[in-house]
Amino acid sequence: MNFDLTDEQKMFARSVRGFAEVHLSAGALERAHDPRFPFDVAQKMAAQGLMGITIPEADGGMGGSLMDAVIAIEQVAAVCPRSADVVQFGNFGPIRTFAEYGSAEQKAKWLAPLLAGRMVMSLGITESEAGSAATELTTTARQDGDGYVIDGAKLFSTFSPDASIFLVYVRFGPGTGGIGSVVVERGTPGFTIGPPQEFMSGEQWCELHFSECRIPAANVLLGPGGFRKQMAGFNVERIGNTARSLAFGRYAYERAREHAAVRKQFGRTLSEFQGVQWKFADMAIKLESAQLLLYRAAANADRGLPSAYETAVAKAACNQTGFEVAHEAVQVMGAAGYSRSALVEYCMRRCRGWMIAGGSVEILKNRIAEHVFDRRFDQRPPRANPAGAGV
Ligand SMILES: Cc1cc2nc3c(=O)[nH]c(=O)nc-3n(C[C@H](O)[C@H](O)[C@H](O)COP(=O)(O)OP(=O)(O)OC[C@H]3O[C@@H](n4cnc5c(N)ncnc54)[C@H](O)[C@@H]3O)c2cc1C
Repeated sequence: MNFDLTDEQKMFARSVRGFAEVHLSAGALERAHDPRFPFDVAQKMAAQGLMGITIPEADGGMGGSLMDAVIAIEQVAAVCPRSADVVQFGNFGPIRTFAEYGSAEQKAKWLAPLLAGRMVMSLGITESEAGSAATELTTTARQDGDGYVIDGAKLFSTFSPDASIFLVYVRFGPGTGGIGSVVVERGTPGFTIGPPQEFMSGEQWCELHFSECRIPAANVLLGPGGFRKQMAGFNVERIGNTARSLAFGRYAYERAREHAAVRKQFGRTLSEFQGVQWKFADMAIKLESAQLLLYRAAANADRGLPSAYETAVAKAACNQTGFEVAHEAVQVMGAAGYSRSALVEYCMRRCRGWMIAGGSVEILKNRIAEHVFDRRFDQRPPRANPAGAGV
């Protein structure tokens, strides 16, 4: 067993870090506090080959591994945390599902501008009554002639203020088997995008409303049964959130470490107080152990798709670690850490969101418990017995 990156991976990590230092270091603070998608960064990353790392070359990607994409997130986030969102967008999010399942026609139309950083896509799954229980979504797609009519509403979609296209999960019929997904373009009649609202992190999202919104049949990405089919794709997205959580925690840790090495109180540097040293020891233990779980999930990925269990363990560990470490880093830096003129408090706020988004820590723990006991635990209440049945 080898715990080290390969020589090729080390070389790739160095080249991404070099790119980030030259192109992303200046303006990192401003970028973090700007809620809009950084298209300029996306275009620079496209030129550097950092978009579509895991997407096949035939589709315009780089044909690399999931581990390469994780390395890219880590190296970019170490210099400019906000720019790691672009690596996420270009490699782990809905774009990955799109590249996996899109038709030749769909890919020809949208994949090239997405990978070039000229266009961004937003994912619409969550609804007011369908959060963790995503399969309870009620947005419908009704076949009508040669197209489909979409009705319903979505919440919390990342990048929705800037997106040109939306990957929307819809119900073609009853049950989980009735769920699939469609692409809806901004500006389609019957599709209204509400005003931007803000998360604690400063990221913006808009309510998406579909009322008699007609789309061509060519915009169906996955028909009925599609939701089940692409569960493995969600694990890829989760690995991206996992990698960012850890990378943001590490960014905050590094700033706190530099601060504690030079900041003097009572005539000594903070690093000389044992109470502070032990905080760093605890942070290092958390970061190192979560890192191994992340690398295991990414390195074991089969055809780029990580296992549900390894992903759940890694995401729960990295989400908790990222937040706890960033939180402690704020404490170690005092008012300087709490101030918006450093990115430590920003990392803490962003990490908090990943404990909820893309499979909350609790939902992941449910998944882990099923693995532990090797049985399924239905989260829904037992169905009432029809009168007299089975008695
Ligand atoms: C930063 C951020 C970005 C997001 N981006 C997107 C996006 O791009 N597209 C999109 O569609 N959605 C997005 N979401 C929404 C996200 O998917 C939901 O917030 C998530 O699925 C949880 O749903 P909920 O917020 O409705 O919480 P609820 O489902 O109401 O859960 C509330 C709490 O109860 C817990 N809980 C629920 N069920 C169980 C259970 N069975 N066992 C134990 N605990 C349980 C949850 O873990 C949570 O702590 C985003 C959210 C955030 C925070």
